[in-house]
Amino acid sequence: MNTKDYIALEEQYGAHNYNPLDVVIEKAEGVWVYDVDGKKYLDCLAAYSAVNQGHCHPRIVKALQNQAEKVTLTSRAFRNNQLPLLYKELAELTGYEMILPMNSGAEAVETALKAARKWGYKVKGVPENKAEIITCRNNFAGRTITIISFSTEEQYKDGFGPFTPGFKTVDYGDAKALEEAITENTVAFLVEPIQGEGGVIVPPEGYLKEVYEICKKNNVLFIADEIQSGLGRSGKLFAFEYEGIKPDAVTIGKALSGGLYPVSAVLASKEVLGVFNPGDHGSTFGGNPLAAAVAREALKVLVEEKLPDRAYELGKYFREKLREIPSKHVKEVRGKGLFIGVELLPEAGGARRFCEALMEKGILAKETHENVIRFAPPLVIKKEEIDWALERIREVLLMD
Ligand SMILES: *Cc1c(COP(=O)(O)O)cnc(C)c1O
Repeated sequence: MNTKDYIALEEQYGAHNYNPLDVVIEKAEGVWVYDVDGKKYLDCLAAYSAVNQGHCHPRIVKALQNQAEKVTLTSRAFRNNQLPLLYKELAELTGYEMILPMNSGAEAVETALKAARKWGYKVKGVPENKAEIITCRNNFAGRTITIISFSTEEQYKDGFGPFTPGFKTVDYGDAKALEEAITENTVAFLVEPIQGEGGVIVPPEGYLKEVYEICKKNNVLFIADEIQSGLGRSGKLFAFEYEGIKPDAVTIGKALSGGLYPVSAVLASKEVLGVFNPGDHGSTFGGNPLAAAVAREALKVLVEEKLPDRAYELGKYFREKLREIPSKHVKEVRGKGLFIGVELLPEAGGARRFCEALMEKGILAKETHENVIRFAPPLVIKKEEIDWALERIREVLLMD
């Protein structure tokens, strides 16, 4: 079987809910992936930041293998000897008091929304069924019906109504708009410290601090969705650290497992996650010992290999070098850490053709929002590998 055969099978039997680049990956190591024809590529997407630690990190693979031979799933009907250690290690690393584990990122967001509503009714005293949650234009938080209910992307919603009520939208980066949207029934503001799927949008400096203070003043929970921006990607453990704030709740996922397994979580205070009582919420696989063992090792790798610091330094270098490319197509190079967006001018003809040209040259990157090429390689990337990529990116950005 070759590339064509695999693609034909996938197109025949799979639902067509993605439009992938036509590369069929068979194995990967660190920042490199290999297709079924033996061609090698530098991965500049890192599975939407789920493989910050690099593909198949040997320590995380070992942890998965070891745990897989012991016990993989107990369900939360019983306890296991990995989850308590993950709780402790995550709490010590992040400074949060309580954790609720789930699997996908969308589930972590759903969990945070449920916690916020319940906190609103039980702690803040909002009248029943009146809780409001404010979100931002251009957000991305997953694909469940409730989450797409507050999406502002037409396509994400088309054909999927009726939608979950109780959400309001304000412009991202506009603190005043948030202040005006808050009512006595507002329980939470959900925000990505950097919008990833929205096109690697970095809000104006000071915005997060300002909206955080507005939330404090109005007794509204500030929930940071760090599923993509978190765990080192932005050059800090969490992107909100750039503004010295501590959100009331944080959702994490993706790199929490280094890409080996779906693991997500909500981190919060006891006041927030303490609203859940036995039976209120759950997941068969959430908090399973295989997930916990993998996440524990993935976090250790993140800390011991100083991946946030690497992302900070190398990201700065990468962005500077990208800005030096005299391309007539580029409108802006932006980002923090190794979370980088190159926005093309509307007349460039869309980012897709540039991503296809990059693939030809051995670099995998994905367009986001028509005109943005995202560069977000695993954080274990070396400076020489960035230089290797820059030579090729330069050729592609200089094409007609
Ligand atoms: C990817 C992502 C999610 C959803 O995660 P899934 O694991 O795909 O459900 C939520 N929020 C943000 C910011 C994301 O980037």
